[in-house]
Amino acid sequence: MKLLFIGPQGSGKGTQAAIISKELNMPHISTGDLFRSIKGELKQELDSYMNSGKLVPDELVIKILKQRISQLDYKKGFILDGFPRTINQAYLLKKITNIDKVIDIELDDETSIKRISGRVTCEKCKVGYNLITEPKPKNPKFCDICNGKLIKRADDNPKAVRKRLEIYHKETEPILNEYKHLTIKINGDQHIDNINKEILKKLKEF
Ligand SMILES: [Zn+2]
Repeated sequence: MKLLFIGPQGSGKGTQAAIISKELNMPHISTGDLFRSIKGELKQELDSYMNSGKLVPDELVIKILKQRISQLDYKKGFILDGFPRTINQAYLLKKITNIDKVIDIELDDETSIKRISGRVTCEKCKVGYNLITEPKPKNPKFCDICNGKLIKRADDNPKAVRKRLEIYHKETEPILNEYKHLTIKINGDQHIDNINKEILKKLKEF
C-alpha cells in the first residue's frame, strides 16, 4: 500500500504520518528524511542547491525519491509526507510510481492559524509543545523535560501562517483533484488519538 498524506499546517499531518508508519510498519518518507538519506552523485547535486539557498527543482526531488523508493521493501509500501506539494510534482510522481490511497486531513484556516500560533519549542532540547492543543507543557514558559525556555518561531504568527495557507490552497490542494477517487477525508479538528483512529478505521473500510 502506497499512501500519500495531505493537509494544511497545524492539521497534524506529519505527526499522523509518523504514527501510522509505526502502526502499519511502513517506511515514512518525509521531504527532510528524503534529503538526508541521499548519497552519491544526487547528494552533490542537491547540496549545490541547498548551499546556495536555491529552490530544489522538482525533477531533482523526483530523482532522489525514485532512488529512495528503489531501496525499499516494496511489499510494505510507503507513506509519502510533504511531497508532492504542487500539481507539477504530482504529475512527475505519476511517472515513477502509483499511489493507492490519499489521506486528506482537513482543517479550516482559523483553527490552523490558532494551532500554529500556539506552537512553542524548547530553546535547549528543541522538543516541541503547543499551548493550545497537544502536547501542552505543564508550565507555558518552560520545558517539561529540561526546564529550558519555551520560544516561538518568528514565522509562526497569524499573518505568516495565513500566507502559507494561501499557498497551500492554491498550489497543494489541487493535487486532490488528481487523486479524487483515492482520497479518504479525515476530520483534523479533533484530538490526535481520534484522528489516528479515524485514519485506521477508514483505511480498513476503503
Ligand atoms: Zn527542553
